[in-house]
Amino acid sequence: MTMPSKLYDVLIVGKGPAGISAALYALRANLSVAIVAKDSGALSRAHLISNYYGLEAPIPGADLEKRGETQAKALGAEFFDGEVLDLMFSDVFELKTKDAAFKAKTVIVAAGAVRSKAPVPGLDAYEGKGVSYCAVCDGFFYRKKPVAVLGNGAFALAEAKELLPLASSVTICTLGKDPLVEISSEFSVEKEALESVEGNGKVERLKFASGKTVAVDGIFVALGSASAADLARKAGAAVEKNKLVVDEKLMTTVPGLFAAGDCLGGILQVAVAVGEGARAALGSIEFIRK
Ligand SMILES: Cc1cc2nc3c(=O)[nH]c(=O)nc-3n(C[C@H](O)[C@H](O)[C@H](O)COP(=O)(O)OP(=O)(O)OC[C@H]3O[C@@H](n4cnc5c(N)ncnc54)[C@H](O)[C@@H]3O)c2cc1C
Repeated sequence: MTMPSKLYDVLIVGKGPAGISAALYALRANLSVAIVAKDSGALSRAHLISNYYGLEAPIPGADLEKRGETQAKALGAEFFDGEVLDLMFSDVFELKTKDAAFKAKTVIVAAGAVRSKAPVPGLDAYEGKGVSYCAVCDGFFYRKKPVAVLGNGAFALAEAKELLPLASSVTICTLGKDPLVEISSEFSVEKEALESVEGNGKVERLKFASGKTVAVDGIFVALGSASAADLARKAGAAVEKNKLVVDEKLMTTVPGLFAAGDCLGGILQVAVAVGEGARAALGSIEFIRK
């Protein structure tokens, strides 16, 4: 794993409108800025944007995204490709992708909206009764007990690795999909679709489409990539109903950790994401200068 030796002033997760807007404000305050993103986000999927300020004619979302990236690069933003798997805070923030680690005084999570939900009937009913969304937060409760991780990508594998030293066994359930990462033999893998979660007031077993059952005490949901809520939980920030708790400066309950854009919910629009990116950056600037 490579670790840039630099301690950044502001580390931003996401290069959508919220992340880029935050970067522009931080850079113009003479702060060092790194942006880590796994792809171009929702804006690049928008066919044409015509309701954003200053556009003489509608432009493809991907072009608007590229303009923002070019603008931030010209001011000195450092861009890194990678899926963020972990975010921690001790004396500074430390953020990890599969291949790299970064350190920063403040972090702005601008990871966009999560549109995937666990495709398992009845899973929500067990939240807090065996269903968790954070291995580092809740793994301790499953010491020497069998657990399952739902997901088929790098995030699911990272969560499974976090649980391995604690649990008696870790089964990775890929929910009918092929694994996107190599899974070592320390883990059991179930590739079948999951039909239901069963238990009497708490999680007791998984039932697969073929009728096969696997006894587990805990289920860790890690579908797709780590969401803003997943990263906030890892850093110890409060999350309510899967939404980050933020103050008027868009700072979470962990000092120096901010959030902006679609990941905060509300009106999912470019104009709002850009405004929130600016607010989070101004909060971050004030936090650093104090
Ligand atoms: C089809 C479509 C059409 C739309 N049309 C319009 C429109 O006409 N007008 C309008 O105003 N808005 C429109 N929107 C909404 C608009 O695109 C979003 O509101 C805006 O992009 C939100 O910006 P954001 O920066 O919060 O998130 P996003 O643009 O989604 O960016 C999120 C960023 O976070 C990164 N990320 C997420 N998780 C991780 C992780 N674990 N590790 C690393 N990086 C991560 C992503 O790679 C991405 O770079 C549309 C959206 C869609 C999907």
